[in-house]
Amino acid sequence: MLRDRLWFDPARIFVGGRWTDPHGGDGLPIEDPSTGSEIGLLAKGGAADIDSAVAAAGGALQGGWGRTTATERGRILSRLGQLVLSHADDLAQIESMDVGKPLKQARADVAALARYMEFYGGAADKVTGQTIPYLDGYTVYTLREPHGVTGHIVPWNYPMQIIGRSVGAALAMGNACVLKPAEEACLTALAFADLAHRAGLPAGAINVVPGLGAEAGAALSRHPDVRHISFTGSVATGRLVQADAAKNAVSVTLELGGKSPQLVFADADLDKALPFLVNAGIQNAGQTCSAASRILVERSRRDEVIERMAARYRALRTGPALADLDLGPLISARQKGIVETYLTLAGDLTIAARGTIESDAPAGGHYLAPVLLADVPPDHRLSREEIFGPVQVVIPFEDEDEAVAIANGTEFGLVAAVWSENGARQMRLAKRLRAGQVFLNNYGAGGGVELPFGGVGRSGHGREKGFEALYGFSTLKTVAAHHG
Ligand code: NAD
Repeated sequence: MLRDRLWFDPARIFVGGRWTDPHGGDGLPIEDPSTGSEIGLLAKGGAADIDSAVAAAGGALQGGWGRTTATERGRILSRLGQLVLSHADDLAQIESMDVGKPLKQARADVAALARYMEFYGGAADKVTGQTIPYLDGYTVYTLREPHGVTGHIVPWNYPMQIIGRSVGAALAMGNACVLKPAEEACLTALAFADLAHRAGLPAGAINVVPGLGAEAGAALSRHPDVRHISFTGSVATGRLVQADAAKNAVSVTLELGGKSPQLVFADADLDKALPFLVNAGIQNAGQTCSAASRILVERSRRDEVIERMAARYRALRTGPALADLDLGPLISARQKGIVETYLTLAGDLTIAARGTIESDAPAGGHYLAPVLLADVPPDHRLSREEIFGPVQVVIPFEDEDEAVAIANGTEFGLVAAVWSENGARQMRLAKRLRAGQVFLNNYGAGGGVELPFGGVGRSGHGREKGFEALYGFSTLKTVAAHHG
C-alpha cells in the first residue's frame, strides 16, 4: 500500500523549508499504472506557488545558503546521499507504484540518486577558476559562481535519476532550486525535498512544486527571476521552454528525446552484444530517452541477430511493477495509446517476436507486450520517430558507410553504440556518429553518473552528469586587477 510507505503528505508542496497547501486548486489523482486505480491525491501547484517557491529560493541565496562554503555544500549533499540509501526500500517501493517500473529498476534509480549526491558532494569544492597571464601591471583571474535561482523541469520516466543529476549539480554549485516534477510521477521528488531538509539543506535551497506542465511548468520556465532552466522531456515542450528562456534571456539545458542506434557489424561478439541489444530497448518498458530503439545489423548476420533477439523477446514477461518482471506497465493509458497507434503503422512489416503479458496482470493496468520488428526501412516512421515504448526495429545494412548514413539519418542524436572487434573501425565510427555519447562494445556503461550526457540535433543541447554539468550550472566571472 502506498500510504504505508509515504512519510509525507503528497497533497502538499515543499516551499521555503516547509510543507504548505498549494493554491492551484483541487489535487491531482495519483494513479498506479499497474492497476489503473487511484492510490492517492497529489498537490496541484499553480503560478502563485511557483512565485512563492522562486521567492523562497531567492531568499535562501540572500541568506545562509548564499554564504555556505563549497565544502559545506558538499557535506550536505554527501549526508543526503546517505539518507537516500537509508530510505532505499521505501523510495524504491514508492517509485515502483508511482511509475510502474519493476522494483529492480526502481532500486537501481535509488542507487543512482545516492551516487549523484556522493559524486556532486565530492565535487562541490573542486571547481576552480583560472589565473590568466595578461598585460604588465595586471592580475587576472576567473571565479565560478552560481546562476542564482535555477528551475528544474523533470519528466516521469526516471524521476530520481534526473533529479539527482540536475538538482545535485545545481546545489553543488550553490544555486537555489525550484523543482517541477512531472504530474504523472512526483512522489520521489517530494521525498527528496524532505530528505534534503533533514540532511541540513537550508530552507529555500530546494523547493518542490508538483503541478500541470501548462500551469506550474510554464510559470516556472517564464519566471523572470529564474536564471537558468534545466529541462528534460519531449522536443515539443523543450521548444516552449526554450522560447520562455529566450524571453528572459537566460540559459537553458535541453535533455530531449532520441532514436538511438546500436550498430552490429559482422565481426561483433554476439554473445556479448545480445543482452545489451534487447535490454537497452525494453528497460523501463522502452520509456527511456536513450533507449536503443534501432538495431542496425550487417546483412551477413541479420538472420542470427533476429533469431537470437526474437528468442529473448519470447521469454520476456510483462506484469505488475511489484512483481518485478522484465517489464512493468506503461506510465498511462495515454502513453499506451501512443505506442499502439505507432504499432498500427507496422502494416505489412514482419513482427519477429512479441513478449507476453502475465495472465493475472490487473485488467486496468497499462500493459503492452514488447514488439520486435524485422527489416524496417530506414525512412519508415517507425525507424525515425521516438515511440517511447517497448518497440525495437531491426534494420539491415550492407557496409560501414551505409550503417553510418542510417544511424545519422534521424533528427535525433543522443547515444549510439558500435559492436565490432575491429579497433580502427571503432575509432572511426566514434568520430563519425552524430550523438552525445558513443559506446564501443557496450551500451550505457552502467548508467555512468560520472559521464557527461546530452544530445545533438533535436536531442537537445547542454550537458548534464559528470563534472561537466558543474560548468553548466555556474557562470564565469573574469576579474582584472590593475596594480601597476
Ligand atoms: P513532457 O515534455 O510532456 O513533460 C516533461 C515535463 O515538462 C513535465 O514535468 C511536464 O509537466 C512539463 N511541461 C509540460 N508542458 C510544459 C510547458 N508548457 N511548460 C513547461 N513545462 C511543461 O515529456 P514527458 O512525456 O514527461 O517525457 C518523455 C520525453 O522526455 C521523451 O521525449 C523522452 O525522450 C524525454 N526524456 C529525455 C531525457 C534525456 O535526458 N535526454 C530523459 C528522460 C526523458
